[in-house]
Amino acid sequence: MQKKTKGMILKERNIGENDRILTVLTADRGLIEVCARRSRSPKSPLTGATQVLCYSEFCLFQGKSYETVDSAEIIESFYDLRLDVVKLSLAGYFVQLCAFLSPTEENCAEVLRLLLNTCYFLEKETYSIAHLKPVFELRILSLSGFMPNVVACDRCAAYESDEMVFLPLYGRLMCKECYELSEYASPDTMCVHLHPAVLAAVRHIVFSPFEKLFSFQIPATCRRQLYDLAEVYTQMHTETELKSWTIFNTLFDRGNI
Ligand SMILES: [Zn+2]
Repeated sequence: MQKKTKGMILKERNIGENDRILTVLTADRGLIEVCARRSRSPKSPLTGATQVLCYSEFCLFQGKSYETVDSAEIIESFYDLRLDVVKLSLAGYFVQLCAFLSPTEENCAEVLRLLLNTCYFLEKETYSIAHLKPVFELRILSLSGFMPNVVACDRCAAYESDEMVFLPLYGRLMCKECYELSEYASPDTMCVHLHPAVLAAVRHIVFSPFEKLFSFQIPATCRRQLYDLAEVYTQMHTETELKSWTIFNTLFDRGNI
């Protein structure tokens, strides 16, 4: 029996003489692995719609060991991302984060929506890289079980105080007074003294409805703190430095943030 599904191709690997296994992020089934038979041949009708970064509609049937792609049609190729090495490397990092964090056979509609929108805005330059990267990182971690507790001080529940401190490893927020009295107050604890505008941005990214997610302002002088905070939070909670991040990082000039 054939079934149709839409998804974004995150990874591919070659098997056999001419086949490829694709890892696809779908809305209703999360990550799935499907086999694109004979798709390494340049004459294959599957070649175009089964490239990494394509959002395609697949017609699948259950083979002996894998679901197999019978036909595929491109919905969105993100072609222009492939023309800019910095954008392409960042999109590569986004898809690798999705592949790392997303489950199989679980609903991933929100993660897919985040990935598609972020890639679209990156391609069209609707927002800068300095804006898109921390939004993507903090939101996907929040959707994947690593939502930081940034509502209020972890101890006294203060929503605001003269200085708020964020502990990336614990995903906790504290006012300075509570932090200094806490068991975390040590030179060995990594803590970030948040600018109020950065705290407001983090709260927005974590809690806002999707429709408003990208549309917030942050003063230029605070962008670097948000960028670095999202990055360190991602690396601490994925406990890895993804290869795609390393590539992006060698290409992207942080002086532009
Ligand atoms: Zn407090």
